[in-house]
Amino acid sequence: VIEFVDVEKRFGDNVVLKDLDFTVERGERVTLIGPSGSGKTTILRLVMTLEELTGGYIYIDGEPLTHREREGRRVPVSKKEQKRLRTRIGMVFQQFNLFPNMTVLENIVEAPIHVLGRSKAEATEKAHDLLRQVGLSDKADAHPTSLSGGQQQRVAIARALAMDPEILLLDEVTSALDPEVVGEVLNILRTVAETTNVTMLIVTHEMGFARDVSHKVMMFDGGRVVESGPPEKIFSDPDHERTQAFLSAVL
Ligand code: ATP
Repeated sequence: VIEFVDVEKRFGDNVVLKDLDFTVERGERVTLIGPSGSGKTTILRLVMTLEELTGGYIYIDGEPLTHREREGRRVPVSKKEQKRLRTRIGMVFQQFNLFPNMTVLENIVEAPIHVLGRSKAEATEKAHDLLRQVGLSDKADAHPTSLSGGQQQRVAIARALAMDPEILLLDEVTSALDPEVVGEVLNILRTVAETTNVTMLIVTHEMGFARDVSHKVMMFDGGRVVESGPPEKIFSDPDHERTQAFLSAVL
């Protein structure tokens, strides 16, 4: 469902991703691990079209996300095509990124109404369902700033799910949280993983979570994939010295 072909990302002269070729299948949950600065977050931001792709191609269900190849040249896709593809992708950020001037409910219904064209009644009903799932039924009318970090992140998860995404991108979603609320956020995501078929691309430092939910773990270093495989293999018996060193530092 997500295909990376010869993906390259440069910031000025700094090449942060190079020769990246991999595919994430429908319903697959893939976790990216690796040292700080290895390019993991950049991959998610490229899929969300928050960064410009400087080389290669990303395809969503076979459709080009940013550029298509025509006679050996990269031709940008139209804004309209890109917008349509992007509606299938949801993202949850480290810093929640809720709209501070809207209530919790307004945060959740905003995109379903304005992007998907759902009726207010339908979007509101779904939002209440999602708030129940994340344990925040009583916070619909609260403003994000009055909530704890863990609660804000649960709202951000509900907001992403309200769009019925085919693909969910999780960018270090527990890194900004107090340790005692990390578990509740991860449990909600475990339930999402178990009860839906949503494709997930995950960047996390929570190795226990990565082991539980991932079908595949990819180890990055210096903008390249060092090795990848099922979590049982990568966490217990990695082939590569870089992976061994990284895991012994974080586990
Ligand atoms: P971390 O775990 O610390 O978030 P990461 O593996 O997710 O690390 P990225 O955040 O993807 O790494 O960053 C990869 C490289 O790209 C880093 O060297 C970073 O400095 C650089 N980089 C990221 N965003 C920008 C930007 N907007 N402008 C310039 N350089 C950037």
